[in-house]
Amino acid sequence: MSSQHAIPSYLHPTETGPWGVYLEQIDRVTPYLGNLSRWVETLKRPKRILVVDVPIERDDGTIAHFEGYRVQHNTSRGPGKGGVRFHQDVTLSEVMALSAWMTIKNSAVNVPYGGAKGGIRVDPKTLSRGELMRMTRRYTSEIGIIIGPDKDIPAPDVNTNEQTMAWMMDTYSMNEGRTSTGVVTGKPISLGGSLGRREATGRGVFVVGCEAAKKRGMNIEGAKVAVQGFGNVGGIAGRLFAEAGAKVVAVQDHGGTIFHSNGLDVPKLLDHVARHGSVAGFEGIEATMAPEDFWKVDCDIMIPAALEQQITVRNADQIRAKIILEGANGPTTPEADDILRDKGVLVVPDVIANAGGVTVSYFEWVQDFSSYFWTEEEINQRLTRIMTEAFSSVWQVSEEKNTSLRTAAFVIACTRVLQAREVRGLYP
Ligand code: GLU
Repeated sequence: MSSQHAIPSYLHPTETGPWGVYLEQIDRVTPYLGNLSRWVETLKRPKRILVVDVPIERDDGTIAHFEGYRVQHNTSRGPGKGGVRFHQDVTLSEVMALSAWMTIKNSAVNVPYGGAKGGIRVDPKTLSRGELMRMTRRYTSEIGIIIGPDKDIPAPDVNTNEQTMAWMMDTYSMNEGRTSTGVVTGKPISLGGSLGRREATGRGVFVVGCEAAKKRGMNIEGAKVAVQGFGNVGGIAGRLFAEAGAKVVAVQDHGGTIFHSNGLDVPKLLDHVARHGSVAGFEGIEATMAPEDFWKVDCDIMIPAALEQQITVRNADQIRAKIILEGANGPTTPEADDILRDKGVLVVPDVIANAGGVTVSYFEWVQDFSSYFWTEEEINQRLTRIMTEAFSSVWQVSEEKNTSLRTAAFVIACTRVLQAREVRGLYP
C-alpha cells in the first residue's frame, strides 16, 4: 500500500469492535456509490479526535483521573452532532464508531449536521453527585476548544441526562462569558430544552416500528415485544408499544431478564426501574430468565436498546422476532445481519430507528437560535413526519437495489455526505 494511503495505527482495520463493524458497513455500501466512491476513504477516517485527561478531586480528598474523548467524524454537511456517554467500557475506537454512525444517521434523516460523539471511561454509579458534576465540568472545559453551537453540539447518551447537559451548558457559557444555550441539546426545559426531547428517541423507534409492521402486514395490537435495555430509549418505546395494544413479554437490562407471556405491566415496570435502577426484583412476572435466553423469546418485535454488538453469530439464529428495531447504536454485527436476512427477519437499522432523538435535538437547536418555542404537538408531528419519510425512502432504495434496510440507509446517507464533500472540494 502506498504511503499516502497508510492507515494510521488508531484506525487499524483488523479491529473487531464497533469501529470494525462500521468499516465493514462502509465496505458493503461502497459498490452502490458510483463515482462518489472515490471519496469513500473520507468516511473511514474521523476528521478530528481529541483525547483528554479529566482530573477531579474526590470527596475524600484524593485525586482521580478519567479518560475523556470527543471525536468529530465528519462535518461536511454541518457542525458535529452527537451524544456524550459515561460508561466504564468506553474506548476511543467505540467513540469513533459512534461518531461515524452519527454522521450516517444525521444524513439519513437529512438534518443539517455532520457526526460527532464523546465519552468518558467511568462508571458514573461510583461517583457522588458532586464528583459527577466536577468530572462533567472539567471534561466540558477540556473539549471546549472544539465544541460550540456552530461547531459541535453534544447531547445525552448512555448514562447522561438533562442534568449533565445543564452542567455542560453552564461550563461552556462561563468559559465564553455569555449564556450559550445552543451548545448542547437535551437540556432541561427551563434552560432552552425542547418539549418532547426526552421521549423522542423511544417515540421514533415506535414510529418506524409501526411503519415496518405495516410493511410486514403485522398488527401492533396483540403483537409480542421483547426489549433489551429499559432506559430512556427502551423504556419509552416499550410504553408506546404497550399503549398501542402490544404485549411487552420480555425485558432485559443489566439487572436481569424478566418474562410474562400475557405482557408485563409497563407503567408499573417503569416506576420500579425509576425507584430501583433496574428490572431486578419486579414482582409482576411469570419468570426470570438466563441472560442468553432473552434472544430465544417467542416474540414478533425485538428492540435491542442497550449497547453495541449484542446480536451476533452466537444468537442471531435463535431469534424468533419478525422485526428488529435497533434502539441502540450498533447492536447487530454484519455477520448477524446476514443470518437475519437469510431468515427473513426485517432489521430496521439504528441509523433510522433511533434517529428520533437527534431529530428533536435539531428542533431544540433551531428553537434556541430563534428563542421561539414550539408546542409538544408540533414537535411530535414534525418528528413523525421526518421519521416516516426517512423510513419510506430507505424502504424504496432497499427495494430498488435489493439490499438490506441498513445498506439502503447507508446508500442514502453516504451519497448526501460525499456529494457535499465533493462539491465543497479539498482545502487548501
Ligand atoms: N445520543 C443520541 C444518539 O445516539 C442523540 C444524539 C443527539 O441528540 O445529538 O443518537
